[in-house]
Amino acid sequence: MAKHHFEAEVSKLLHLVIHSLYTNKEIFLRELISNASDALDKLHLLTLTEEKFKNLEYDPKITITLDPIEKRLIVSDNGIGMDDVDLVENLGTIAKSGTKKFLEELDKNLKNKENLIGQFGVGFYSAFMVADKVEVVSRKAGDEKAWIWRSEAKGEFEIDEASRDSFGTDVILYLRDEEFLEEWRIKEIVKKYSDHIPYRIFLKKDDKEEQINSAKALWKMSKSEIKDEEYKEFYKTLSHDNNEPLYWMHTKAEGTLEYTTLFYIPSVRPFDLFRSDYEPGVKLYVKNVFIMQDRDLLPAYLRFIRGIIDSEDLPLNISRETLQYNAVLAKIKKTSIRKILTELKKLKDQDKEKYRKFWDLFGRVLKEGLLSDFEHKELIKSLLLFRTNKSDEYIDFDTYIQRMPKNQKSIYYYVGKRVEESPLLDRFKKEGFEVIFFEDDIDSLVAETIEEYAQKPLKSIASTEADEDFGTLELDEGTYRDIVHALKDALQEKVKDVKISARLTDYPVCLVFDKNDPEYQTYKILQQMGEYAIEPKPILEINPQHEIFAKAMLKNDPQSLKEIAPILYNEARILEGMEIEDPMMLAKKINELLAKALS
Ligand code: ADP
Repeated sequence: MAKHHFEAEVSKLLHLVIHSLYTNKEIFLRELISNASDALDKLHLLTLTEEKFKNLEYDPKITITLDPIEKRLIVSDNGIGMDDVDLVENLGTIAKSGTKKFLEELDKNLKNKENLIGQFGVGFYSAFMVADKVEVVSRKAGDEKAWIWRSEAKGEFEIDEASRDSFGTDVILYLRDEEFLEEWRIKEIVKKYSDHIPYRIFLKKDDKEEQINSAKALWKMSKSEIKDEEYKEFYKTLSHDNNEPLYWMHTKAEGTLEYTTLFYIPSVRPFDLFRSDYEPGVKLYVKNVFIMQDRDLLPAYLRFIRGIIDSEDLPLNISRETLQYNAVLAKIKKTSIRKILTELKKLKDQDKEKYRKFWDLFGRVLKEGLLSDFEHKELIKSLLLFRTNKSDEYIDFDTYIQRMPKNQKSIYYYVGKRVEESPLLDRFKKEGFEVIFFEDDIDSLVAETIEEYAQKPLKSIASTEADEDFGTLELDEGTYRDIVHALKDALQEKVKDVKISARLTDYPVCLVFDKNDPEYQTYKILQQMGEYAIEPKPILEINPQHEIFAKAMLKNDPQSLKEIAPILYNEARILEGMEIEDPMMLAKKINELLAKALS
C-alpha cells in the first residue's frame, strides 16, 4: 500500500466541495458520468487508430449500481481505465494551471465563492459532496494489473494493487445519506443531465438491470425533436457550467461537406476567459467519435463559445499537429465562424435585451476579432455596441448612421470613458453630430482598425483628422499672433504647436493630436504592455473668444500669458484624462494666482 498526499490545491478544492458550496449536490452524478463517457470516448478512439487495440471487443456502456446494504453507489465504465501512475496524476493533482489560479483567487474572494465555483466544474472531486469515502478501482486497457485508489478526503489518499475482471473503472461512493440510493432519484438525475450522452447508461439493483437514458447524441438529433430543456441540460453536461446557456445555435450541413455543429453562448463568463491558458470550449467529433478539445477549432476571439463540431468527412487520425493544415476542417471552421457571427447579428436585431447581456459578457472578447480576423471584419464591426454623447443606452453603427444629420460626413469617436462634457465635444454638439465613446482598454487599437463603416470614415475627435470636415477658420490668425507666440515661448518642447482653435466654444483650451501621430491611448497601451513607444506631443488649441484671451488682448499684454501658460496647458491635460506633469509647480502657480485674486 502506498500513501500519498494531495497536492495543496486539491486539498483546497476538496475543502470547498465538502463544505457545501453547491446547493444541488445531485450534479456529482453528472460529473462522474461525464468522466465515464470521456473514458469510453478515449478507448473508442484507440480502437480506431492503434493497431494494438484494433481487435478489442467490448460493448461500451456505463453502469450505476445501487447497494443499499453497504450504502454504496458505484459508477462503472468499460472505458480506457487508469494505472497507478494515472491515478496519482489524475486524482491527486490539478493539472490545469488555469484552475489553480482560479482557486487562488477564490481564496481572496470569499464573498463571491458560490457564484464563482458554479462557473467551473469540480469534476471527480464532486463525489465528496455526497460521500465520506471514495474508492476508484481501475484497470487500464491493455494492462493485466488493476489498482485501487482510496480516500476520505483528509489530505491524503492510498493506492494499492487490486483486481478487476476487465479494463475500465469503478467509482465507489460510500454515501452520507440515503437520497441517492433511490432508483427514481437516480433515473430523474440521469434523465435530466445525461440523457443524450452517446453511451447507454444502465441502473442496476438487486441483479435487475435497465437502461435509463436514450443514448442518442443530442447534436445528431433533428432540431424539432429537441426540447429547450434538453438543450439546456446538455449544455451543463458539456460545459460543467451550472448556469443555463444564454443562447445556442444548432446547424446541420448537408452537401459537399457533411457536418453538425452545436454552439452555446454561456450566460456567465468562464472563469478563465481572460487567461492566456484558457480551456478551449469546443469539442471535435468525427463520425460520432470524440477526437479532441482544441483551441484551434475556433479563433481566440470566440473562446467563450462552448459546443461541438461533428464531421463525417475528416479522418479519424487527425491530430493536433495536422489539424491546422486540414482543408476540410478549415472549411468547417470558416463556415462555423460565419454562422456564429450571423446568428449574433440576428440576435442583436431580434432580441435587444439578450444581445445587450451577451455584449456585456463577451463584447470585449469579440472585439479582438477586429485585430485578428480581417476576413470577417465587416461582420464583426456590425456587431459592436457603444454609448455616445447623446445616448447612455448602447447603440450600434447602423443606428448611429440612421441618426446622422445630412451634412455629417464622418463617424466621430473618442477613446475613453463616456462624458457629456468635454472641450473636444463642443463643436460636434453645436452641429448636432453624435460622438461615439469607445470605453474598453483595447479600444484605441480597435478604433484604428475599423477605419470606416458603410463608406463613412471613422475619425477621432482627439486628433486633427476631423478638422477638414468643418470648413476653414474665419478668424484672422494675425490678430492673435502675439498670444500664440507668447504661449509657444512659455511651453516650448511640451507641445508640438499652439493654434487658434475652431473647435472650442466654452472652454479656453484643449489638446489634440496630429492626425499623423499615433493616438495617445495607443501609446498608453503599448507603454503598459512594456513595449517601446514614443509619447506623441499634443497640439495646444486656444479659444480666442474666451474671456481669458479676450482680456489678454484688451490689456495688450500677451506676455502676461506666459505666467499662466502652464496652468492652461495642465488644465487641457486634465480634461483629456492625462497626468499632470508637475503637480507641485502647478499648485504653486495656482496659489500665486489665488493670492493675487484676493489681494
Ligand atoms: P476533468 O474531467 O475535468 O479532467 P476530473 O477531476 O473529473 O477532471 O478528472 C481528472 C482526470 O481523471 C480526467 O481528466 C481523467 O483523465 C481521469 N478520470 C476520471 N474519471 C475517469 C474514468 N472513469 N476513467 C478514466 N479516467 C478517468
